[in-house]
Amino acid sequence: MTHFTEKLYDKSPYDFSFQAKVLDVVEDKDRTAVILDRTLFFPEGGGQVSDKGTLTIGDVTYNVVDVQNNEGIIYHYVDNSVHVDNSVHVDNSVPLKDSKAQGEIDFKYRFSNMQQHSGEHIFSGLARKYYDCTNVGFHLSDSEVTFDYDKPLSEEQIYDLETKTNEVIYQNRKITAFYPKEDELKNLDYRSKKEIEGDVRLVEIQGVDLCACCAPHVGYTGEIGICKVVDYINYKGGVRISILCGERALEYYRELDNITRGISRSLSAARLELINEVTRISEALKEAEYKNVNTQKRYLDLIFELLPVVESDSEVEKSVKEHGIVKNITVNGNAVIISLAEADGKAVRNMVNKLKSKYPDKLTGVITDSSKGYAFIMGSESYDCRRVAEALRKQLGAKGGGSESMIQGNLDKELTKEDIDLLCTNAGEL
Ligand SMILES: [Zn+2]
Repeated sequence: MTHFTEKLYDKSPYDFSFQAKVLDVVEDKDRTAVILDRTLFFPEGGGQVSDKGTLTIGDVTYNVVDVQNNEGIIYHYVDNSVHVDNSVHVDNSVPLKDSKAQGEIDFKYRFSNMQQHSGEHIFSGLARKYYDCTNVGFHLSDSEVTFDYDKPLSEEQIYDLETKTNEVIYQNRKITAFYPKEDELKNLDYRSKKEIEGDVRLVEIQGVDLCACCAPHVGYTGEIGICKVVDYINYKGGVRISILCGERALEYYRELDNITRGISRSLSAARLELINEVTRISEALKEAEYKNVNTQKRYLDLIFELLPVVESDSEVEKSVKEHGIVKNITVNGNAVIISLAEADGKAVRNMVNKLKSKYPDKLTGVITDSSKGYAFIMGSESYDCRRVAEALRKQLGAKGGGSESMIQGNLDKELTKEDIDLLCTNAGEL
């Protein structure tokens, strides 16, 4: 008969090494699970990920990759990479029943989870005390700690709670876990995410919070080191807050620090001046973009005005081509297509609209060099441009589309006079 696994982590959150007896080894959906009589491995639960570590059974060490609690019986899922004599190899043999197991949990990982979880309890206890918020969701993964409150909080209120949480950390208050008797529990005012069946385990942060919780916590608030809010969003009528505590907060801020230092060096601006500098650059970019589009519009307008002359094999045509202003102009009975080196999309669209009006019975368009090859914008008042797009796809493998009166997309090659003739025939026939 299987009995409930004794939860050593419940009373000894700082122990990382233990011995146990293997009660059973089960295959569960292609995974192997070891059931022990007792364990230090915290199983996934209450929004928190499970502990990681190893189990040595006989002379083989298995990685424990997942731990689950199934109605009081704790399953240690092991993978097939085993360690023997400092080497790692794959072994499909399963651990033996009734043998002794030596368990080691990854304590650095466990301790970090303890820091995050205790930090969350302080924050949520204070959120209830000062802003009457109820915690309605909690998630502690390898990368983030998030929790949801039923009420919205302003930025000012969130920072107030962050400050107060860190004050409790500095005060180094004692944290204890205990199972009160049923009649004792009735008289206690504690936070609880849901009705709990069976014995209720309470975690008390001296003078600050009392909350039902099954997870390991640090012994004193000072061990949390720091609690920093890293994000918050409105969520389901309340707020979702992300925090980081201890070393994870340090690592996160080191990364932010490196990023801002890098930006500061590349912009040659002091770090505390970065917001001003980035605002200045972004405004300058907008101004430059505005000027560029206007200049290009004027330059394309000029080409447009010159078109009747340029079309006619004149000196003007030679000149605009020699100066690289226009690469090519194709005018035939059905189409007017202009190739340019490069041009702004807005300015090109503006020009295609003008070409459309000037040559209402033709297919008009502008082709420009682009990072993806060649970009085209075409328009017409006589051709259905969606048919032109289809013909371009079939004929030249072009990508793109649009409306009946205008299309845009990309081409791998420049259009020749022959391509344009064929395109007009194909589009007309479609
Ligand atoms: Zn908890």
